[in-house]
Amino acid sequence: MIKEPMLDPSLMEDSTPEILVPDGNAAEEIFSGGTGLTYRDYLVLPGYIDFHPSDVELETRVTRNLKIHRPMISSPMDTVTEDRMAIAMALIGGLGIIHYNNSIERQVELVEKVKRYKNGFIEDPIVLGPHNTIRDLDMIKHRYNFSGIPITEDGTRNSRLIGIVTNRDVDFEKDRTIRLSEVMTRDVVTAKEGISLTDANQILKSSKKGKLPIVNEMGYLVALMCRSDLKKNQEFPFASKDSQKRLMVGAAISTKMEAYDRLDALYRAGADIVVIDSAQGNSNYQVQTIKYIKKNYPSLEVIAGNVVTTDQCVNLIRAGADALRIGMGPGSICITQDVMAVGRAQATAVYYTGKYAKKYGVPVIADGGISTIGDMANALAIGASTTMMGSMFAGTQETPGEYFYENGVRLKKYRGMASLEAMEAGGDKRYFSEDQEVKVAQGVAGFVVDKGSMFQLVPYLLQGLKQSFQDMGVRTIPELHEALHSGKLRFEKRSYSAQIQGSVHSLHSFQSPGIGWEPSRRS
Ligand code: IMP
Repeated sequence: MIKEPMLDPSLMEDSTPEILVPDGNAAEEIFSGGTGLTYRDYLVLPGYIDFHPSDVELETRVTRNLKIHRPMISSPMDTVTEDRMAIAMALIGGLGIIHYNNSIERQVELVEKVKRYKNGFIEDPIVLGPHNTIRDLDMIKHRYNFSGIPITEDGTRNSRLIGIVTNRDVDFEKDRTIRLSEVMTRDVVTAKEGISLTDANQILKSSKKGKLPIVNEMGYLVALMCRSDLKKNQEFPFASKDSQKRLMVGAAISTKMEAYDRLDALYRAGADIVVIDSAQGNSNYQVQTIKYIKKNYPSLEVIAGNVVTTDQCVNLIRAGADALRIGMGPGSICITQDVMAVGRAQATAVYYTGKYAKKYGVPVIADGGISTIGDMANALAIGASTTMMGSMFAGTQETPGEYFYENGVRLKKYRGMASLEAMEAGGDKRYFSEDQEVKVAQGVAGFVVDKGSMFQLVPYLLQGLKQSFQDMGVRTIPELHEALHSGKLRFEKRSYSAQIQGSVHSLHSFQSPGIGWEPSRRS
């Protein structure tokens, strides 16, 4: 459908219609029927349009105390979120949660990579000393994807800057055992401590260098600026950043004993948020873990879950959870509801938990079962503050894993953390089955098509979401929630035939628009 061009707002004054005859139903009437509903079982009725999609603001709370500009989180799954995905998510304005199907050291390394990926001053740059070799430099490049390492007298940060080594200094050097003192550039353009970001940017531009070390009066290295970050700064005005301008990142932990060591290491690495990753979050383990975190790491935000009922929310909110992750069974790779006969239809779960958690100022995250722009809009419309997605982002370039071809189609692996193969790699911490001899899968391993880059996919999803907000007649997520809880936002259930009619029908064949859409009903 082609959208009408917007009229001059002055012409539209006094044209706001009063709602004289409330049509449809308030959310409570839709969800209270005793039948579990999913996002496709109802629609939001259209509102009044007096603004453009570009007027829609998608800022939202991810936890009690942290806001992001885009209501999107990537799942802590080993085929979805590692450093590249978390960096992409944060740059775009969302959040990535790094999975824990790995050693503590590896997860810390991934968190560090995100935290070091900066748009402003890098206050803890990696440095080397004159006695280090080109091989040491290669290792850093491999681990962090950096080039341009400052060299200080004793190889530590609080020491005098004596040079810099860039790719150009070492690219053609066959002998990687050569000391950096022999290849480094000694004539370094620097800036003095206290310089403003704008002035430092100016020096970077005019010197045409890739790196600008910042030094104090004694010539000691105190920070570093990167030309590549300068470009990114301009490209990503909505990036999710902490108070030191580092990208924000979350990391998952389990409720097992090892989680305490992991937690401490993640906190030290700079994780902003920890997600206690459990398929059934209403447990003594989880309550104890939340209390422990709140007592020992008060600045760390805790996302607890997963839960689907108000009863389950009570304990976690009391223990101090800063956000709740909602979903038991809706995931695209999930077979929990079939195997365990426990769970809840996702829209019903999001609505009731959201309504309860709102009283305590705790945002809820709609986790799983989102495969279209409409699903995202629906989740936000019934009270979710953010959406967490696995399959939507799986198959993008930023996910871990390699592409391969099957029958000419480019694919990547996407697997549930409770699939047998992921459990063997450690994912069973989420399912209390770590110590069990017989492992019962609650997920499957599968494949998804190549979706290109997150930097193309997400803008498409966001534009669709903004248009959906325009159709609903709301400009912001708080406004949407206000309309939801006041009953102003109206909904209607869809019959089976309405769902068929609401999707593509009566065609011999058609071209799918692809990502962000799928037929409501599959035959
Ligand atoms: P998706 O976005 O529909 O693919 O769902 C992703 C969500 O499914 C994750 O964020 C987890 O909450 C959940 N999940 C991950 N692995 C499994 C599994 O093996 N079984 C059940 N649920 C899973």
